[in-house]
Amino acid sequence: MEKIRMDTPLVEMDGDEMTRVIWAMIKDILLKPFVDLKTEYYDLGLPSREASGDKVTHEAAMAVKRLGVGVKCATITPNAQRMTEYNLTQMWKSPNGTIRAILDGTVFRTPIMVKGVVPYIPTWEQPITIARHAYGDIYKDVEAYVGRGEKASLVISGKNSERVLEIFDFAKTGGVVMGMHNTDASIKSFARSCFNYALDRKQDLWFAAKDTISKTYDHRFKDIFAEIFAKEYESKFSAAGIEYFYTLIDDAVARVIRSKGGMIWACKNYDGDVMSDMVATAFGSLAMMTSVLVSPDGNYEYEAAHGTVTRHYYKYKAGQTTSTNPVATIFAWSGALRKRGQLDGNAALAEFGDRLEKATIDTIEAGEMTGDLAAIWKGETAAKSLSTEDFLKAVASRLA
Ligand code: NAP
Ligand code: MG
Repeated sequence: MEKIRMDTPLVEMDGDEMTRVIWAMIKDILLKPFVDLKTEYYDLGLPSREASGDKVTHEAAMAVKRLGVGVKCATITPNAQRMTEYNLTQMWKSPNGTIRAILDGTVFRTPIMVKGVVPYIPTWEQPITIARHAYGDIYKDVEAYVGRGEKASLVISGKNSERVLEIFDFAKTGGVVMGMHNTDASIKSFARSCFNYALDRKQDLWFAAKDTISKTYDHRFKDIFAEIFAKEYESKFSAAGIEYFYTLIDDAVARVIRSKGGMIWACKNYDGDVMSDMVATAFGSLAMMTSVLVSPDGNYEYEAAHGTVTRHYYKYKAGQTTSTNPVATIFAWSGALRKRGQLDGNAALAEFGDRLEKATIDTIEAGEMTGDLAAIWKGETAAKSLSTEDFLKAVASRLA
């Protein structure tokens, strides 16, 4: 069989622990036999980040900016315990945080649906994508406890001006205050990433905030989305047959629950944090959640939403066979290969991305899956719980 040609390489970012093991298996079993795989390889595994003083993470992010499409394996974000375990000289920052800061993007999370893994909401027929703004609000806030008898104000000072807005006079009782911010630039890039992604997926875009209560802060988000939509996207949306609308966050929650799914739901930072866990859980499994970072200038970085599955890795190191679910990592590769194919005008490569996903879903729907899915299976055929490697081989035989 002739292998599918690649034109531009993918930026390949290897990672840690169990997902690093699965990464190599996916390449050997599902990719290399079918595709003449071309990648620019960056090892973001913790030992390599340590050895390079984390330069490798920056270089990988710059490579995504240059080549346009990357695929990333899950990586350890070090904590105190990892400092000793990996003999680190520094508690290196989260690679995802570093990459996000360089690419300035929005994170889109979408569950992979299969018949037999049933969402808790019976009306949900299609996946719901959460688009989370990844900058500011309470994640960069300033907070204080204010004692009884103190007064809290917001002070905004310019070169020749000062505005003092009273927040609260704590004359009778102590309490708490918080100051937070966001920037026009970040909100604009959030909006453009969402509009571009909706066009790419040909799905409706919802954006929800609380502008009735937050008449300046949340209203700014609403206005920026509306302005950019009218100026840059309205005609593209009608040509694609999709719509954008804004609604209040509480109304959005009610509508999402009653919906059939199939839309992109853009959320402010905190709302996205909360809603993405709600959506992931309600669809059935974290191991079936994909994630892609899209930058406003159109660069894409694909990954699984879960971590390095440390508990399974310790079993693997002790010589046991594990049944770790590789599906979200397979979909990171399929998403990246399809996008690369689309950007390069390489239809065979883009179609391979589709076929890889279909083979994966068909394998599960035929009753062959990893243990985590077998445990929640409600399909017609009885579930057969396979090791990771046997599951990948089952997918490969379907693909062939
Ligand atoms: P995790 O790796 O997502 O795993 C948590 C638990 O969820 C696992 O122990 C396992 O449960 C289940 N699970 C997750 N993915 C699974 C899969 N593919 N197949 C089967 N079960 C799966 O989270 P964690 O243990 O909290 O974090 C481990 C490391 O990952 C940390 O060092 C963290 O920094 C890193 N992390 C990285 C990323 C990223 O790179 N994007 C994201 C999150 C965390 P059972 O053990 O019950 O089977
Ligand atoms: Mg969270």
